Amino acid sequence: MAGGEPTHTPVEASLRSSAGVLELREVTKRYSRDSPPAVDGLSLTVPAGEVCVLIGPSGCGKTTALKMINRLIEPTAGEILIDGHSVRERNPAKLRREIGYVIQQVGLLPHLTVFANVATVPRLLGWEKERIRVRVRELLELIGLDPDEFSGRYPAQLSGGQQQRVGLARALAGDPPVMLMDEPFSAVDPITRERLQNDFLRLHRAVPKTVVFVSHDIDEAVKMADRIAVMREGHLVQYAPPSELLAHPADEFVADFVGADRALKSLSLTRVEEIELIPPPLVRRGEPVERVRARIERGEIVPVADHLLVADEDDHPLDWLPVPRLEALQAIPSVEPGGAEPVIDQVTTLRDALSALFEANAAYGAVVDEDGRCIGLVGAAEIAAGLRQAGTMGSGPAPATSHAPATLGGSRPAAGADG
Ligand code: ADP
Ligand code: MG
Repeated sequence: MAGGEPTHTPVEASLRSSAGVLELREVTKRYSRDSPPAVDGLSLTVPAGEVCVLIGPSGCGKTTALKMINRLIEPTAGEILIDGHSVRERNPAKLRREIGYVIQQVGLLPHLTVFANVATVPRLLGWEKERIRVRVRELLELIGLDPDEFSGRYPAQLSGGQQQRVGLARALAGDPPVMLMDEPFSAVDPITRERLQNDFLRLHRAVPKTVVFVSHDIDEAVKMADRIAVMREGHLVQYAPPSELLAHPADEFVADFVGADRALKSLSLTRVEEIELIPPPLVRRGEPVERVRARIERGEIVPVADHLLVADEDDHPLDWLPVPRLEALQAIPSVEPGGAEPVIDQVTTLRDALSALFEANAAYGAVVDEDGRCIGLVGAAEIAAGLRQAGTMGSGPAPATSHAPATLGGSRPAAGADG
């Protein structure tokens, strides 16, 4: 996954984690003599722990390619290797226990509880009862379902999103080095899908697996993939990281497929923490105005769009304060939090940050770290500069250089402190 250090909570750290290199060499599948091959000479390598998203129009061979990896379908020609060993030499039933498989229809066994469904593979692997119990609890916690509440439920008692989560836990249960996911989130509503995608990314940071993820949705691919493999009529057209695919589509087909708004799509590739932020003009509530003025004169704080940002003792942003208001004040007022919207978490993507700015009709947002401390300000100009820096937008118009208050309509920072 792009960006950021993996974080390990005690639960996550206790999960053993394996990931294997997956290699397809000239793999071909012909369903019949007189039709063209469904997959034709497909070669690609997925490095251990990376997410490869297979994408392309319906019927281009994605599912066929995936099912050859766990031998639900046998290739007509070519070789598939996991950590250098051909899957052909493996017993198919054993192989499938070592490859997690998640599909759109989930496929939970309706007569088994959540616990029993997740425990399926560990039981087949002959694990001790206690080890299975611990493992299932850990996995349920990891996917955000309280084990005490959900272990005894049956699939029919779960929402679609919860079923898909259990399907994911079940696929991870045997600690497979490789996971195959065939349009796993396409049957749920858009909000649930976004949540599942985020959960999966968080999970993948904690427990890296080599993942082949089939999708027909370019936005999902850009968000999820370390590398995207674009397929057309059984062939691999391009295999590249999302940023490269968006910046340099190999041909017209790929360019069409990624769409005209690829500059916008690349906004999802970068997080606010990765771009250059404006130093926040922080002042403390209760701070004498005299001292604030001295700090401004010394250049310690530079007002942004003629505003200061009032923070508490822990740098939590509270509200904007227009510089002219200092005239009438002895000290920075003790404002309540909430006037500094939008407050943007540093892990937010540029796309989401931009939409937060628009939604709040604000020129700037206060960026905070994991403790809620303000570490900078971000506006549309910083986002645009970050995009250019990432090299995904090509040569656009000349960069806007000033932090003009009119950047985003200019109504914020403005209100708040006056009210
Ligand atoms: P995708 O997952 O990209 O939509 P598939 O791998 O399911 O594509 O299908 C690729 C091609 O192979 C399609 O033309 C499809 O009709 C054909 N195909 C898939 N499964 C079979 C099968 N079991 N028998 C014959 N043809 C098949
Ligand atoms: Mg398919």
